[in-house]
Amino acid sequence: MTPLLSVRNLKTHFFLDEGVVKAVDGVDFDVFPGQVVGIVGESGCGKSVTIKSVMQLIQKPGRIIDGQILFRHHDEAGRETIIDLAQLDPHGKTIRSIRGAEIALIPQEPMASFSPVHTIGDQIMEAILLHLDVDEEEARRIAVERLHEVGMPNPEQRLNAYSWELSGGLRQRAMIAMSLACNPRLLIADEPTTAIDVTTQAQVLNLLLTLQKQHNMAIIFITHDLGVIAQIADFVVVMYLGRVMESGPVEDIFFNPQHPYTKALLESIPSIYAPAGKRLPTIEGSIPHPFSRPSGCPFHPRCKAFMPGVCNAAIPKLKAINDRQSVSCFLYDHAPAIVEGS
Ligand code: SF4
Repeated sequence: MTPLLSVRNLKTHFFLDEGVVKAVDGVDFDVFPGQVVGIVGESGCGKSVTIKSVMQLIQKPGRIIDGQILFRHHDEAGRETIIDLAQLDPHGKTIRSIRGAEIALIPQEPMASFSPVHTIGDQIMEAILLHLDVDEEEARRIAVERLHEVGMPNPEQRLNAYSWELSGGLRQRAMIAMSLACNPRLLIADEPTTAIDVTTQAQVLNLLLTLQKQHNMAIIFITHDLGVIAQIADFVVVMYLGRVMESGPVEDIFFNPQHPYTKALLESIPSIYAPAGKRLPTIEGSIPHPFSRPSGCPFHPRCKAFMPGVCNAAIPKLKAINDRQSVSCFLYDHAPAIVEGS
């Protein structure tokens, strides 16, 4: 099957007076139609910059400097062509016709994303009128239908509500309704449950999975929470310092992790079976400062399996180690490969 989205060697750097921040530095992953791909990693690992790159929403002084973002785009005549989103003008007509229509985003904090001076209905209808060839009456009907789909009580009345009149859970439902307004084929959810309580979080995750099946859309789900990934993802991409450390089906990542970073992340999840008084394992050290990136494998200063002269000498490439998982680690590569430009 051809992927809906194929990201290859994506590099997005930020050029500051103090130096260059390599926020995303050679990322590869695929998203297939109807698949839920979870991108997981600590804060600062490049998750959000990766999806902003996919949507061409990188602000100066950042820019995509290399790589491809291949997307199966449907043009106005309904023909499917594969286009490289990385090559599009961020302000051009093509990417504007894709954003919000074929690829939609659920942001982390809906309160900051909805305009406080326009009603929920006006904002959902604006997206529909921009992308679909319908009149205002039809746009209103679709907006009510979407609000109904996401379980919004009294959707006709809620069209006239402002975002600040809704609870956190209802605001997130309204944001999901707006992102689904034009039936996207790829939905990107950027930590959509971080700002809400755990009960509402469970409801939102169930809702997203139900809608994903109803609309047969693919989802990229960004989070730092492995518990959320276990609930929602089919396939997992583990990122660290702008690179993919490991990727594979969710059951392999949780029950047969291969990369030392993935193993360390899983070990640091509190367990109800842990003996009383046992200290929770942690990953020693902290994420390096963006301007003092380590040489070689980016995880080497914190890795228990560090091999001097190997791990700090070259950057391991992401390689398939079986027919399901890919890993970037020299433990699985006796002939270390040096990434171009390292
Ligand atoms: Fe650890 Fe070396 Fe593998 Fe990096 S390449 S994760 S430092 S063993």
